[in-house]
Amino acid sequence: MSVLLMSLDLEDARLHSIDGMNYPSRVEKNTEAFISFLKTKEWPCTFFTVGNIFESYPELIKLIRDQGFEIGWHSSQHEPVASITEDQFYSDLMKGRDLASKFGISMLGYRAPIFSVNQSTPWFHKTLKKAGFKYSSSILPAANPLFGWPEFGDRPVVKDDVLEIPMPLVDLKLLKVPFGGVYLRTFPSSVFKYAVSNRKNSNLPIATYIHPYDFDSQQERYTHGGINGSAFYNFLMYYNRSKMLNRIEKLARACSGSVLNYADFYRKQKD
Ligand SMILES: [Zn+2]
Repeated sequence: MSVLLMSLDLEDARLHSIDGMNYPSRVEKNTEAFISFLKTKEWPCTFFTVGNIFESYPELIKLIRDQGFEIGWHSSQHEPVASITEDQFYSDLMKGRDLASKFGISMLGYRAPIFSVNQSTPWFHKTLKKAGFKYSSSILPAANPLFGWPEFGDRPVVKDDVLEIPMPLVDLKLLKVPFGGVYLRTFPSSVFKYAVSNRKNSNLPIATYIHPYDFDSQQERYTHGGINGSAFYNFLMYYNRSKMLNRIEKLARACSGSVLNYADFYRKQKD
């Protein structure tokens, strides 16, 4: 049986877009709705959180913490790891530690923005260890137009004393996609169900991720960042949002409702 690792990458999508700040904030409302959804299902979740959320929405951080969910670090500015130096990365990790400690939170886990860890960042796990992080979920083990590290493989492995939990992939023949985000929203749910059943004897986790906007069907439309202004990709950013929570439910059902946050998975691996 596969366990489903649940996560939300908690960021304000407006900040990554050219004119996003002309639109009202929806990150708080969406995250609160996701918390209510998780509570009705009694599912845990890791909220990999960007720096400005700690600074601009302290009440939201307290809500996540007080409801018993895990908080991990997702960088200050959502800058790709492959675009910064080792020293800058370490400073960024320590900034996360500092922000979280103001809320009495000691973070164990890290997720790189856009899964931006690859062969060009050999210092990645060593630096996480130095900053006291215990696990990471930052690698997309596939060829990808942005970042990706096909040779890494999709098994959790310990590197420099840090457990790396790469994104598992669904093999669609022409491309391999993770069980999360825009892929989970746009491809038929039967594809993911089939992929889960194929992996059920492997003892490998199914890791998923979503964003607060992924299930926000009310959001006014603007051009999302990181898609090079492509009209087609922007269409996909809005496609099927009303079905996203249902997709997550289906994925959990395929995993027999066995849902963990990343920290608990890390602890189980350690034992
Ligand atoms: Zn992100």
